[in-house]
Amino acid sequence: MGKAKRKFRNIFAGLLILVITAGSLGACGRDWRGKEVTVIDDNYRTWYEIFVYSFCDSDGDQVGDLQGVISKLDYIEDTGFNGIWLMPVMPASSYHKYDVKDYLEIDPEYGTMADFEELAAECNKRGIKLIIDLVLNHTSSEHPWFVEACSYLESLGADEEPSAEDCPYYEYYNFVKGNPNSDVWYQVGSTDYYYEGMFWSGMPDVNFGSQALRGEFEAVMDFWLEKGVGGFRLDAVKEFYSGATGKNVEVLEWVNSYVKAAKPDAYLVGEAWEGLGTYAQYYASGIDSFFDFEFAGPTGVVTRTLAFSGENNSAQAYAKALCRVQNAIREYREDAIDAPFFVNHDMARAAGYMQYDERKVKMAAPLNILMSGSAFVYYGEEIGMSGSGKDENKRAPMYWSADASAEGMTKGPLDMEPQENMFACAQEQIKAKDSIYGFYKDTILLRNQNPEIARGTVARLEEVEDQDIAAVSKTYEGKTIYLLYNISETDEKQVTMSAEQYGELEIAGYLSVDGGEVTMKDGVVTLPSYSVVVLR
Ligand code: CA
Repeated sequence: MGKAKRKFRNIFAGLLILVITAGSLGACGRDWRGKEVTVIDDNYRTWYEIFVYSFCDSDGDQVGDLQGVISKLDYIEDTGFNGIWLMPVMPASSYHKYDVKDYLEIDPEYGTMADFEELAAECNKRGIKLIIDLVLNHTSSEHPWFVEACSYLESLGADEEPSAEDCPYYEYYNFVKGNPNSDVWYQVGSTDYYYEGMFWSGMPDVNFGSQALRGEFEAVMDFWLEKGVGGFRLDAVKEFYSGATGKNVEVLEWVNSYVKAAKPDAYLVGEAWEGLGTYAQYYASGIDSFFDFEFAGPTGVVTRTLAFSGENNSAQAYAKALCRVQNAIREYREDAIDAPFFVNHDMARAAGYMQYDERKVKMAAPLNILMSGSAFVYYGEEIGMSGSGKDENKRAPMYWSADASAEGMTKGPLDMEPQENMFACAQEQIKAKDSIYGFYKDTILLRNQNPEIARGTVARLEEVEDQDIAAVSKTYEGKTIYLLYNISETDEKQVTMSAEQYGELEIAGYLSVDGGEVTMKDGVVTLPSYSVVVLR
C-alpha cells in the first residue's frame, strides 16, 4: 500500500511539467484531466440522489434542509454532477416523507417554498437539472383526501351504498366492502370497508381509474414544473396496479404525455423494481428512463464483477451485460435512456458489498458511472460511506466531517443505529488526491469529457475481451470511442488495438485505482490492475 502511494506522488510531482507541455503533447496520457469540458444540455446526465433529511443542515436543528442543499451546490457541481434528484420534499408524517400529506407544499422540516424556488433557480443557473420524487402510488393516510373518504364511509348507514357523487374522494382510493383477508388491506375504522396499502397502513394506494384523481395529479405536476423542476423521479410505479405491467404502462403513458406537453425537455425516471425482462417493458410508456436494477445492489452486475468469482462474473460477462440491458430496453423504446445506479436509499451501501476493500470501492465507480444513459450516484457513495441493516441505516448523515457536531452535520433518522464509516470524511477526502472521492470525481470528469460515454450505442470487442478485460465501443453521432477495463484484482494486462482494425487511436483519459499509468505504444495498451482507459 505504501509503495503504491509513493508511486502515485511521483506521478503528481511530474504533473506540473506535463501541464506546461500539454499543448505540445496533445490531450492524451497523464494530462487528460486538463482538457476542457463542454457538458451537453440534454437528459444524459450524472445525477446525485439526495436524502435532504440527512444531507446538510443550515439552521442548527441537525435536520437537513433545502438551504443546506443550496450551501452544498458548489460541492455537487465541483464533483461533476449536473443533475440532482431530491427524495420527497413534501409535507409528510414519516422521516422519509414517502407518505405525502400535501402535494403542493414543502415539509416545514426542510424549509419553505421560497427556499425551494431559490434552490431551483440556483440549480438552473449552474446547468444542474433538478428533479424531485413524485409519489403517485399512494398518499399519506393523513392526506385530506383519505381522511374525508374515510369519514364519509364511517358516516354511511348500514344499507347505504357509497358514491363518488356524495364524496369525490371515495373513488381516489381502492376501497372494498368486506374483508379481503390480505395483509395489504386495512379496515376503515370499525366499518365493513377496507383499503389497499401495499407498503403499510399509513400509505393508502390510490385508484388511477379515477379521472378526478388524475386531474389532481396533473395540477400537482404543473405546480412543480412551474416552480422550476426539470422533471420527476416516479416512485413505486409497479404498484400502481400491482402485478399488472400493462396497466402500469398505461398510467405512465398518461404521466409522460402530460409532463412532456407542459415541458418537452423534462426528464422522467421511474422506479420499476423488477428484473430486466419486466422493467424493460415499462419503456413502452415513453418515460425516458427506468432504474437499471440489473446492475445495482449486492447481487447486481457491478458487485458480481468485482466481488464474485467465476465465469458468469468475469469482465467479459460485464461487457455482455452492458449489451444485454441496452438491447432489452431498446426493444421497447428506440431512444430509451438507461438509468444505471449502484445503490439507492433502499439498499445497503456499496462499501459493504466490497468488504470495505478501498480498491474495489473505487473500481465500482467507473463500472457504474461510465455506463451509457443517465447515471445516478446516491449521496455518500462518493466517499464510501457505511450503512446496512434497517432502512434508517441506509440513510445516515452525510459524512462531511469527523466531528458530528460540525456545521452542516445532521443527526440522521431517529431509529438509525450508529454506522461506523470506514473511510475518511468528505472534508479530508476532498484534500487527498488518492481518495475514493477523487476517484469518483475523475470518473465523472472522464464521462463528461467524452459525450459518447453516456450517449453511445455499446458494442463488444469480442476479440479483445477475456476473463479480466471488458472491451466495448460506444458510437454516438458518427464518432466511436473505445473503453477498455482491466478488472483483474492483481495483474497488469496488455491489449492490442491495432491501427488496421481500429484506426489511429489515442488515450483520451484513464482511471487507475493505484495511480499507475495506462500507456499505449504501437497499438499495445498497457493497463495496470483495476484501470479503465478511453481511446479515441
Ligand atoms: Ca435544519
